[in-house]
Amino acid sequence: MVYDVVVVGGGITAASFVSRLNALKPELKILVLDKAMRPGGRLGARTLDLSTGVHEVDIGAAYLTASSEEFRTQVAQWLSRGLLREWTESLWVFDGAKRSESAKGPMRYAAKDGLRSLVADYFSKFAADSPGRIEYRLQTAIKSLDALEGFGAQAMVFACPVQQALRVIDTAQPPRISHQQRAELEQFKSKPVIAAWASFAEVSWPDFRAAFVNQNKTLSLIADDGSRRGDGAPVLVVHSSHEFAEEHQIAEGTALELIGEALKLLDVRAEPIIIGQHRWGLAQPSTTSDSPFWFDDHRLAICGDEWGGPSKVETAWLSGARLADFIAQSKFA
Ligand SMILES: Cc1cc2nc3c(=O)[nH]c(=O)nc-3n(C[C@H](O)[C@H](O)[C@H](O)COP(=O)(O)OP(=O)(O)OC[C@H]3O[C@@H](n4cnc5c(N)ncnc54)[C@H](O)[C@@H]3O)c2cc1C
Repeated sequence: MVYDVVVVGGGITAASFVSRLNALKPELKILVLDKAMRPGGRLGARTLDLSTGVHEVDIGAAYLTASSEEFRTQVAQWLSRGLLREWTESLWVFDGAKRSESAKGPMRYAAKDGLRSLVADYFSKFAADSPGRIEYRLQTAIKSLDALEGFGAQAMVFACPVQQALRVIDTAQPPRISHQQRAELEQFKSKPVIAAWASFAEVSWPDFRAAFVNQNKTLSLIADDGSRRGDGAPVLVVHSSHEFAEEHQIAEGTALELIGEALKLLDVRAEPIIIGQHRWGLAQPSTTSDSPFWFDDHRLAICGDEWGGPSKVETAWLSGARLADFIAQSKFA
């Protein structure tokens, strides 16, 4: 089968890109490839089998916010379908030894079944509405540009961090992008985060929902996942600081160290029952561009949370939509 567009990456950027392109050009054949076993990318989740039932724990993005009109409209749709829920406008802040409840901020939205369910929803809808025309393949790693070229597409879209895109683009011999383009793309570097989670016999901590942790070598965030999910499950999730993740690979004891630091800050004594950890090697970009996406004359494009705003779900979603608008007009007008 020859595809019109092939997409590397199956996270929220890809979901938004495909949704928009499909709405504008419903005749196109689109193939989405992701090396992971489950959809969602950094909207990652793990399924915990708790005594109270199955609980999806968010181990990637903690929540999403919406500032643009366009994304607010999307969020309103998710809310009306019950996929998303309003979680909280205020979070705690640990600043060194000081603890405070932050002033009211933007509404943080969470998903009943984990944020990954938003991406899964897109792709199950594509499979139902456009069978055979929009294809989503998991556990398919693209290792070379030649392999990607093999699909014969008019546009080859990387919906992932630039560092991941470059690993593929760099395999081309002779090089497919100029020295200057490569030097520009090489500026985009991402920083790691280790996420750890733990379940407990009961909720023994105060109703803090989530806490930003500042001036701490180990942690950057603690979240009460039961409060976030809305099922009240006794589950905590923590994100390490970038510095901690740079110094640590995943090892036995890492999760316990991270969870232990959270319990200390919350001033709680509790024994974890299930405990787990995941290292996001490319969690957060240190550089972002004002351009909403990158496109070159060789049919190559990159979109995601490094393009058009600060790194977050909203930026990723908008970047995918803007690239779809552009490709619909310039390649398939
Ligand atoms: C720990 C953490 C906390 C965060 N907290 C927040 C938050 O609170 N609020 C917020 O708005 N955002 C947050 N974010 C950021 C948010 O998760 C991202 O902005 C968003 O998920 C990016 O989506 P994406 O689709 O662009 O990229 P990704 O989700 O990274 O998807 C890219 C996909 O490409 C695949 N891929 C890459 N290379 C290949 C290849 N060669 N072949 C096949 N597949 C490939 C990967 O497997 C991946 O699934 C957080 C992220 C992390 C990691």
